[in-house]
Amino acid sequence: MKIIFPKFDKLGMPLLGLAAATFFIIETKKQLRKRTRPKTERIIENGAVAAVALPALRLLLLPGMYAAARLAQKKNFGLLNWLPLPKWLRYAAGFLLLDYTNYFWHVLLHQSNLLWRFHNIHHMDLDMDLSTAWRFHIGENIFSLPYRSAAAALLGVPGSLVLFYEVIFEGCTAFHHSNIRLPYEAERRLNWVLVTPRMHGIHHSIVARETNSNFSVIFSWWDRLHQSLRLNVPQNEITIGVPAYRDPKEQSPKQLFLLPFTQQRPWHLPDGTVPEREELYPPHHLCP
Ligand SMILES: [Zn+2]
Repeated sequence: MKIIFPKFDKLGMPLLGLAAATFFIIETKKQLRKRTRPKTERIIENGAVAAVALPALRLLLLPGMYAAARLAQKKNFGLLNWLPLPKWLRYAAGFLLLDYTNYFWHVLLHQSNLLWRFHNIHHMDLDMDLSTAWRFHIGENIFSLPYRSAAAALLGVPGSLVLFYEVIFEGCTAFHHSNIRLPYEAERRLNWVLVTPRMHGIHHSIVARETNSNFSVIFSWWDRLHQSLRLNVPQNEITIGVPAYRDPKEQSPKQLFLLPFTQQRPWHLPDGTVPEREELYPPHHLCP
């Protein structure tokens, strides 16, 4: 199985690093939501979670998806290999469809009890910023391998597109997790196309209805299409996290690593109340 991808490592990764550094500087200067915990503590915790998960992504998930796409291409298998399309259209359609399959994967992470055990680690972060973008349990990466490889093969996307998509996917994930306050009107317009920080902030709310919204990764269209888009929550009213896991002392790297294998708590605050919020605007109204 091919593991070395020179363009990905020598061009994609440095570009991602540059994008991340830019988002980091902007989110420090133009903060969207107030922090509840010291940034350094969370960088250490999230960094430790990422240090285990990222090698799995680069050395297992990426080669797996690439190999699946290459095999499909070789056997002339998969939707886009069966359709007589010009090359540019094959790439454009492949990019869109890959993103669409990731919308469904994210929905599945929330709906499956097993997958949620792992995705919970990502949502348990008590603030959301750039560092949250890499806070994924290695188990989530491992579970996504068969799904995302099968998606690449069934769609019949070119192997090079899998790599290109992944760079954009990671860049957009970094962007929409960042705590950047974009000018309101700019974000409203950008959100017609892309998932933006305000939109994804609502997905990390402790209110269940809000968490179960905004599953898209790159294009916001999939949430619009499936009516799971929710923009009507003011950012200063959002409490980030999962209601039953509010104690910062439960966020050590070891506890986070072991959490999927422990009894899961129901969706309520430690005092037993279920977080709710009155809806004052229609779901598509972007609140500041
Ligand atoms: Zn999620």
